[in-house]
Amino acid sequence: MDAIASGRRQLADWLDALPVNYFEANPLLRSLVERASSPAEFNRMDAHLAQYGADIAGAADLVHKCSTPPNLPTLERWDAIGRRQERVRFDASYHQLGEIIYGSGVMGMTGDPAHAVLQAALVFLTAHHGEAGHTCPLACTAGLIQALQKVGHPRLQEGLLPGLLDPAYATRLHGSQFLTEVQGGCDVGANASRAVLETPETDDSPAVWRIYGEKWFCSVADSPLYLVTARPEGAAGGTKGLGLFLVPHDLPDGAKGGPLARALAHRALPQAPNPPNHFTIRRLKDKLGTRAMASGEIDWDGALAWQVGTLQNGFQTVIEVVLGTSRLYNALACAGSMQRAFYEARAFAATRTAFGRKIAHFPLVREAVAQLYTEACAALASTLDLVQLGAQGGESEAVRLGVNLNKYWTSVRNTQMQRLGIEVLGGNGTIEDFSPLPRLYRDAMVTESWEGTHNVLVAQTWRDMQRYGLHRPFLGLLQRRAEAWGDAPNAQEVRERLIVLAGEAERLAAARDENETLALRSWMDNAMVAYQALCLGELDQWRQQRGEATEAGVVAHLLALHPLRTAVAVRGQYPQ
Ligand SMILES: Cc1cc2nc3c(=O)[nH]c(=O)nc-3n(C[C@H](O)[C@H](O)[C@H](O)COP(=O)(O)OP(=O)(O)OC[C@H]3O[C@@H](n4cnc5c(N)ncnc54)[C@H](O)[C@@H]3O)c2cc1C
Repeated sequence: MDAIASGRRQLADWLDALPVNYFEANPLLRSLVERASSPAEFNRMDAHLAQYGADIAGAADLVHKCSTPPNLPTLERWDAIGRRQERVRFDASYHQLGEIIYGSGVMGMTGDPAHAVLQAALVFLTAHHGEAGHTCPLACTAGLIQALQKVGHPRLQEGLLPGLLDPAYATRLHGSQFLTEVQGGCDVGANASRAVLETPETDDSPAVWRIYGEKWFCSVADSPLYLVTARPEGAAGGTKGLGLFLVPHDLPDGAKGGPLARALAHRALPQAPNPPNHFTIRRLKDKLGTRAMASGEIDWDGALAWQVGTLQNGFQTVIEVVLGTSRLYNALACAGSMQRAFYEARAFAATRTAFGRKIAHFPLVREAVAQLYTEACAALASTLDLVQLGAQGGESEAVRLGVNLNKYWTSVRNTQMQRLGIEVLGGNGTIEDFSPLPRLYRDAMVTESWEGTHNVLVAQTWRDMQRYGLHRPFLGLLQRRAEAWGDAPNAQEVRERLIVLAGEAERLAAARDENETLALRSWMDNAMVAYQALCLGELDQWRQQRGEATEAGVVAHLLALHPLRTAVAVRGQYPQ
């Protein structure tokens, strides 16, 4: 074989070495799911995940197609005879992919503690393709379902939950969530969208409002149900005065002549498209990543809306239910993407030759692939742990802090890991149709800012430590579990790190100087590494007790990659 034929053969071997079933390729995921389930439940989950692992791995071409020009979503504002529509048109590949993803039943499990880990595993497997146009909609829909389950008016629950939980792609409902306005996304309290009361709540109907103003980042702009923050007239400033509203895309039947309650009384949403609900989508944004999913800018001009929960708890529902859910989904998306980067890099390193050797023989390449593996395992372990803790209830304060730390850390690590994966593939790694890594890298940059930027999560963590002392339940939980870890390898090191972290947390909780946010960010890095090492170590111990192969080296590697870093001393300056 000549050199060129041999080079091409190696690339074909690389493709052949990639997994064809994302669940069966991942023994760690299997163990995490098994450990979280009863034996009978696990047998059922195992078969379901194995089927989905094959289905979703087989969807790679669909994802590539719907994420690439000219197949990106487009806005269709008018129909053929000039009536306003405000609809989004997708390539057929987007819908084919949706049938696979929703067909797994993933949304129907929302709010059911018995299926929380299975649901998370399905989202993780989906995210092996990055955003794939559907991961953000899953997160938004799960948040909407939970908000309705927890605080929705009974008519909204009856009218909308069956559609939101429906696994059939063609008939399902899905949701989106709009907080961000042009004056700033982090400072949600600066929201200027207004809500005007139309009819108060009755036993038969939630309160009906009209929404005015604009939202600047509106992902899943195609959805039939928009969850929106807005300020009722006369309400207080800041986040306290924000209410939470559900705006249907189409005017529900009966809405033109009377309250929306009449529409809800017999049917949740119109079967055939009705006119859009007093809003216009200005344009779809031309984004760096998550390009298969439609993000728009929306103007509201008296859109009819149902109130969700009490007015005074609007923002609390956003933080605790909506963002609490989507921050976990964001982390699952990052963990799934890292796992895919690992697969791509591992197969490439095993098949690509340079200087007469497979590149996996070079220590620098081997270390990069090992780091991809370690960080992907760590992200999955901490995120599934939080999903399980959340489903069990009882550790709500620890979970609240943990979800925020985990969202921050997994999104930071994801971007770094996509970069590292591209490095292993060399120049080929930068080519759009060679591997999914360029797309995953672009998606990773977006997931860094979604659902709270790093700095916002640092600020929220600081507030939670100062006002509520949430570092104590979080670290207390970790310390108890680290004690139970016994004398396993690495257990002592994690216990020692937790002692340092506890001391530093008390200092930071008492501090008032804003410069301490620099040290807090380091603390968050350290806390996440200790947490992830603990989760992986516990799993290792469980596997060992069952006589299964263990991966103690992964925990040691994670700790070595991220040595404990205390307060940051460096403070740069730049010309103003
Ligand atoms: C593709 C895409 C889709 C999106 N879809 C949606 C959506 O569907 N719904 C929605 O509501 N939002 C959506 N967003 C918005 C996203 O949530 C915001 O981008 C994010 O909340 C940050 O807001 P901002 O972009 O206005 O940044 P800004 O608020 O302008 O912040 C700019 C910078 O200042 C920093 N900063 C701000 N406050 C502080 C502070 N107190 N301390 C330190 N640093 C600070 C930030 O961390 C950031 O680095 C989307 C964003 C993207 C990129």
